[in-house]
Amino acid sequence: MTTVASLHTDDSLKAIDASHHLHPFTNTHALNAKGARVITRAQGVYLWDSEGHKILDGMAGLWCVNMGYGRKELINAAHQQLEVLPFYNTFFQTSHEPVIKLAQAIAEITPADLNHVFFANSGSEAVDTLIRLVRHYWSLEGKPSKNIIIARENAYHGSTIAGSSLGGMSGMHKQGGPWVPNIERIRQPYYYGEADNQEQSPEAFGLACARALEDKILEVGAENVAAFIGEPVQGAGGVIVPPNTYWPEIQRICKKYDILLASDEVICGFGRTGYWFGCENFGFTPDIMTMAKGLSSGYMPISAVAINDRITSTLLAHDDDFNHGFTYSGHPVAAAVALANIRLMQQENIVNHVHSDTAPYFQQRIREALKDHPLVGHIEGVGLLAGIALVQDKSTRTLYPDNIDIGLVCRDHCFENGLIMRAVGSRMVLSPPLVITHDQIDELCEKARLCFDLTLASAQ
Ligand code: PLP
Repeated sequence: MTTVASLHTDDSLKAIDASHHLHPFTNTHALNAKGARVITRAQGVYLWDSEGHKILDGMAGLWCVNMGYGRKELINAAHQQLEVLPFYNTFFQTSHEPVIKLAQAIAEITPADLNHVFFANSGSEAVDTLIRLVRHYWSLEGKPSKNIIIARENAYHGSTIAGSSLGGMSGMHKQGGPWVPNIERIRQPYYYGEADNQEQSPEAFGLACARALEDKILEVGAENVAAFIGEPVQGAGGVIVPPNTYWPEIQRICKKYDILLASDEVICGFGRTGYWFGCENFGFTPDIMTMAKGLSSGYMPISAVAINDRITSTLLAHDDDFNHGFTYSGHPVAAAVALANIRLMQQENIVNHVHSDTAPYFQQRIREALKDHPLVGHIEGVGLLAGIALVQDKSTRTLYPDNIDIGLVCRDHCFENGLIMRAVGSRMVLSPPLVITHDQIDELCEKARLCFDLTLASAQ
């Protein structure tokens, strides 16, 4: 079979890429200096590039290929749906079988009464939908002043104007504003980096961070606050796992002031933390949640917002349309693949397997392999997520100076040695496919150790 890739040499593909392709979140000068890595195929937890290297994908694509690459069940679902009905929209009182069944499947796996589902294409669109929905809800309730959404520093909620307004990424805030108004932010629950003092326990720190929400509500007035949103574990912020006291206290405060609680499950959903959704791991029940990525294991772009009965009954009690939607909301092929993905996860009992087997093994092995390494200040993680803080001096937690981008040095060593790890500043993060085996976890840990040694040597 003739493929596009085979018509070009590796170098000519890289040159065309450099000439015509603007990459997201990429330093173009650095990219053009060496050319993009061209990924050609994938199977299980491995990728291959155009130079023939086999690479263990420690990031499941971009936190999304939960069921691994090359799953026939998902490929066949797409193929069959393409033949039967490749597209029809879900606007204006139309629907189709894949989207109906997917909505039901999501209602069944989400906690409590999150029984209603709105579809979009990306996590960012789901977040935009959430912002419009919660503001619209309070307006219908006769409280239009309740429109402030409180989020957190170093949160990531996507890259559209609304998503980046809500997120707390300072680098993003430097470009492309002005931002969506009526968004406030509070501190993040990052114990290793931001505890108030050395004596403070994680539990006390978790409560202090949650109480920053109460302070913010009192500052701006509860009558003006629509919702609080957070990722159960901050993923793109570097895998920041909050202390156990944090989320229950956030929930208590939201209830006390009648503020909607929103969980952004774009990374934490679909088994990543050893539960279907991250909120279940941390003991809180949101009123509304966003999901994407693992929903289709990344095989198709699809996202969703799950909404509880309280919000939905207000929406339905009014005769108005919700004037919001995307051409591809509930796209039949994406919905069919997402449904097949949920069924596959259920058949393979993968969430329980991660919870009771793979995650404990991964968390133990990654610590055994790296905890004593001179570069490693701290390791935190839950389920199949890990964040590793790189430091110049372990005992004082001193970071490398700005002229040494230690994360990128480490990331490049990983790639050269057949492992994908992502760098978030000076933190290295891991989020492998949920189907990773013990042997593959061992391989990942060995490679990571070698790459940390090489990084240390390069930085000296
Ligand atoms: N929300 C969270 C928690 C995310 O991690 C991401 C992406 O990483 C998004 C939203 C945005 O998703 P997308 O990139 O699909 O727009």
